[in-house]
Amino acid sequence: MFGLLTDDVDPARADVADETYYLTDQVDGTRREPLSGAINSVACWGDTAAVRENPDRVAVSADGTRAVPETDGHHWATVCPTDPAHREALLERLESVGAVGDVRLTTLGFPGEAFCHCERCRRRFAESECTDRNDWRAGVITRFVADAADRIDGDLTATLYPDPYPGHLRTRAGLEPAALAPHVDEFLVPLCSIGYETTYWVESLARGFASELADLEAAFAVQVSAPEADADRLTGLTCQLVPHADRIVYGAGPENVDVVRETIRRVRSSNLLETAEKDDTAASA
Ligand SMILES: [Zn+2]
Repeated sequence: MFGLLTDDVDPARADVADETYYLTDQVDGTRREPLSGAINSVACWGDTAAVRENPDRVAVSADGTRAVPETDGHHWATVCPTDPAHREALLERLESVGAVGDVRLTTLGFPGEAFCHCERCRRRFAESECTDRNDWRAGVITRFVADAADRIDGDLTATLYPDPYPGHLRTRAGLEPAALAPHVDEFLVPLCSIGYETTYWVESLARGFASELADLEAAFAVQVSAPEADADRLTGLTCQLVPHADRIVYGAGPENVDVVRETIRRVRSSNLLETAEKDDTAASA
């Protein structure tokens, strides 16, 4: 039911939750050794270092806007998802990480509705059988995830952008949960805030995803991350999420891992999980 997400080996090894998600390859280009027994997180097309090294690899919109940190709305650089050298290197990396533990894919998809209109993407779309650009984009991402799944021994988690409105993920990023579900074991949605001063939006989004993904085989996990929330607030938040998600993953470092540990202890010692399981049984009966 619970996961801990961290980029620090000590909390990762501290047995805080049922599963540990470890940030292995990050969007700035940082690479770490994957941890055995963990779900190792690999940034797919978010790779600022790769774009700094090869500026031509960046995803671009029709008006020439580049997906780089200097552009509004982009916090890292995104490589074009059809870049063949990046795709092959990424699959090789996923194969080696996947030989160590389970794998989570982050920065999966195109970096927004307007991308990518690079020369190669334009040519490939024109040469494809698709008449709708969104169909073509979804095909690009789905084929990649299918190829990644073939190379990975363990379980595969796909990160989704936190927009459960029907069809939005496909339009935004080329992510089509129903097409991806046969290839992945879990969808993980980050719903992060600094301190969760309000939580109604977290519950609403989790509920929206629970309905959107209800008919799919893959599990649904919510990632929360609260550097300034205490155990009271995180416990309250968890109570709102438990009825909707199969797993709740807490992002934490050494400085707040005790808050996560205490939150999990409180939720486990309440009858909340038992009640949620009963609701589940009632719903499937
Ligand atoms: Zn492109």
